[in-house]
Amino acid sequence: MSAAGVAARPSPIAGLGLFATREFAVGERIAPYSGQASRVPPPAVGPGDKIYALEIAPGLWLDGASEDNVARHANHACHPNAELIWDEPAGVAWLTALTPIRADEEITFDYGFSLAESLFHPCACGAPDCVGRIIATPLRPALRRHLRFSRPRD
Ligand SMILES: [Zn+2]
Repeated sequence: MSAAGVAARPSPIAGLGLFATREFAVGERIAPYSGQASRVPPPAVGPGDKIYALEIAPGLWLDGASEDNVARHANHACHPNAELIWDEPAGVAWLTALTPIRADEEITFDYGFSLAESLFHPCACGAPDCVGRIIATPLRPALRRHLRFSRPRD
């Protein structure tokens, strides 16, 4: 499975990952995250469910589960090197480089999961300050508080 500039390969983070097969500059489009856009939220998920439906704009979900969407293999990471940018006029979401990306580097982005979604989805990105759950960056302080308060006090 590959598209120009990317390939799906086994990942140290989880399952298959999306890897660059060439360099990308900051702001460069890497691959489209293709799928069906919907104004209807996807069904609630349970433990272990894979999520390919992402909220790409407020109230707009994109279901990228289709096999021909190679970008669905991109893993989440706490410090991603790419972001998903919704091109409204074209109706296409693009994985876009946030940092310079080397050939053979794994491409990651922030899945933007809610607190509820994050509880079922451990993060294994390997960052020293990994929050341990797949969750949207702005929600991480809230998750840290939640985890602290749900632990028994000593
Ligand atoms: Zn992480």
